[in-house]
Amino acid sequence: MAKQEDKFKSVISHAKEYGYVFQSSEIYDGLSAVYDYAQNGVELKKNIREYWWKAMVQMNENIVGLDSAIFMHPKVWKASGHVDAFSDPLIDNKDSKKRYRADVLIEDYVAKLDAKIEKEVKKATKRFGDAFDKVEFLATNGRVLGYKEKGAAILKRMGQSLEKEDLADVKALIEELEIACPLSGSKNWTDVKQFNLMFGTKLGASAESAMDLYLRPETAQGIFVNFLNVQKSGRMKIPFGIAQTGKAFRNEIVARQFIFRMREFEQMEMQYFIKPGTQKEWYEYWKETRMKWHMSLGMGEENYRFHDHDKLAHYADAAADIEFRFPFGFKELEGIHSRTDFDLKAHEEHSGKKLQYFDHEENKSYAPYVLETSIGLDRMFLAVFSNSLQEEELENGTTRTVLKLPSVLAPTKAAILPLVKKDGLPEIARKIMGDLKWDFNVAYDEKDAVGRRYRRADANGTPFCITVDHDTLNDDSVTIRHRDTMEQQRVKISELKDIISKEVSMKNWLLKM
Ligand code: ATP
Repeated sequence: MAKQEDKFKSVISHAKEYGYVFQSSEIYDGLSAVYDYAQNGVELKKNIREYWWKAMVQMNENIVGLDSAIFMHPKVWKASGHVDAFSDPLIDNKDSKKRYRADVLIEDYVAKLDAKIEKEVKKATKRFGDAFDKVEFLATNGRVLGYKEKGAAILKRMGQSLEKEDLADVKALIEELEIACPLSGSKNWTDVKQFNLMFGTKLGASAESAMDLYLRPETAQGIFVNFLNVQKSGRMKIPFGIAQTGKAFRNEIVARQFIFRMREFEQMEMQYFIKPGTQKEWYEYWKETRMKWHMSLGMGEENYRFHDHDKLAHYADAAADIEFRFPFGFKELEGIHSRTDFDLKAHEEHSGKKLQYFDHEENKSYAPYVLETSIGLDRMFLAVFSNSLQEEELENGTTRTVLKLPSVLAPTKAAILPLVKKDGLPEIARKIMGDLKWDFNVAYDEKDAVGRRYRRADANGTPFCITVDHDTLNDDSVTIRHRDTMEQQRVKISELKDIISKEVSMKNWLLKM
């Protein structure tokens, strides 16, 4: 646990030191769970967004984009169920005065059981060596089965109690499991209450005429209310999708995990409109397709898993999360939800307008069913960033800090380094930079010894260093150094563009899907 915490702390401090993420309004001691993306962070974030957009919109002729406004008519949130049901169960510890999400306290308890299972697996792997059969072990070992059953029973009971709004039972469960406040160890809890997560604001100049608005808590509703506009103007035929990226706002009860849970964050969502009755197939299809997108980034299969929901939201008939192994354990990164026709029907009812699709093949109109994929851009950023940050032991006994970002996402693709600040080398380096910057984000660095500049580029996640030396004056060649292997190659200046392009092109990465 301490190791995990250390790793998480180093992620946060590295993000600050290298210009990725800053606390918002830091000079005023910060604003809780609000963050700013700095010079490198904004590039990484942009690249992740583009990688998603390309895979979802550009590569699918039946998926189109949208950029709807953050402000929406307040009736939207009544229809969607957010006014009545977008709340989390909160509980306070009377001694520490700390506030928690009751469901998260229980889920963390279950995560500890999962960690115990992993420990058993590790022990058995050591004991049995090559003869160890993990699948068999997980299916038969008494202790493992005990932990699994206990965890499943706890989550089932919690799911049922939350669904029935039986908050007293959620508190009873916390007490029965003897869950203590992680900060103080106290088990002195208040009752569980529901807390609505939407931020309210006002539109209008005078107090009397002002209209109560909400900052959108998800981007999806902007898609639903525009469904027919897009379908008609784009002559879209079912199945088709509408994708959008943009800010969402939630007044989260507990926000102590850096950019994992923020009050202002960005979502990348896609709603796929389908024929009623086909939702199971499309649910499987999008689960698989989204997982392939994650896999294409090469961040380790073992770091992802599906988690099927026991407790379904009011709008869903099936839902799963893609969970990622963050520095604090496996947590939700993306949700795939089969939303039925709940949203379109609700908007029809509240607006009095028809939101139906005329199916020429079937010769009838209906409200399509919807399959949703929803991923937090900031969470994806944290997944990529934390997984990439590594402390590496080198052969000569020293260590290096390297940010092994998938090169397609790296903010800077190459650093161009004149070996010395004289003899015409800076001029050549500047010329190379001038050529490459049309195609890639590149940086120029002439300060310090070249070894230190390499380390700086490594820590910054830059996949290539290009060094201009005295031989360059005669042979038009430079040394290109690869971040991950530290291998160096002598290449012609004219080859640089192709070498970098091959390594960082979105096409080459997305082809791995
Ligand atoms: P959680 O259970 O972690 O609160 P959720 O199930 O409420 O998440 P969704 O409403 O399904 O999340 O939102 C879709 C995605 O948006 C999530 O998978 C996550 O990546 C992202 N997301 C949700 N809330 C936040 C937040 N407060 N900060 C950053 N990202 C978020």
